Amino acid sequence: MSRPRKAEDPVRWLVPCNRCGQHHKTVARWPDGGICGYCYQQAKRTRGVCACGHEGVLPGIIDEQPACRSCSGVRLNVDCEGCGAEDELYCGGRCWTCILGDVVDNLLTDPTTGTMATELITLAGALKSMKRANSSMTWIRQKHVTEFLRNLAAAPKFSQETYDELPDSRTREYVRGLLIEHGVLPQRNALLMRYDSWVTQALERVNDPQNLDVIPATGLRD
Ligand SMILES: [Zn+2]
Ligand SMILES: [Zn+2]
Ligand SMILES: [Zn+2]
Repeated sequence: MSRPRKAEDPVRWLVPCNRCGQHHKTVARWPDGGICGYCYQQAKRTRGVCACGHEGVLPGIIDEQPACRSCSGVRLNVDCEGCGAEDELYCGGRCWTCILGDVVDNLLTDPTTGTMATELITLAGALKSMKRANSSMTWIRQKHVTEFLRNLAAAPKFSQETYDELPDSRTREYVRGLLIEHGVLPQRNALLMRYDSWVTQALERVNDPQNLDVIPATGLRD
């Protein structure tokens, strides 16, 4: 997905970008010409199979088709220092997948023991292998998701019951889905679960002294 562009400025940037034809700052000179920041960003994220058979990042353009670095002569650092993959680098010379791996390990490790529960190792694997590492990062970095995963890591033991005791949220249910999918939690009847939660909440309302005086009026007590 491309970012919204600023308006082009033909007075400041006299020579247009060779790819999009718009007047923006030239950030790279590649064999096909001067490249603006937007096209540079897009090139780093272009993946596929080059005409030569190489699969990976295709930042170059040959005959209007995306091409790999060696075919196009484009010089671009897309070699991850962590896993060696050819991919867009996120920070410290490492790709999004590597950074996501660190974030997940960090969140799911119990801070008091420095270890990860066996069940959570499976969950960590599932979270790390989500298809788009950069979207996964955006999801995980939300405060409520980070907090949820930290709580899960610090829970004294992992079971269906302790999982159900975590605060009810969409994150809990999403992660439950992953845990069920990977066989960590058993499949549960979704309707039954909703009924359980409704009964619990209804009982809490009944036990609330504020609501008690309502009961005789409804004819439930006789
Ligand atoms: Zn451009
Ligand atoms: Zn190639
Ligand atoms: Zn990597």
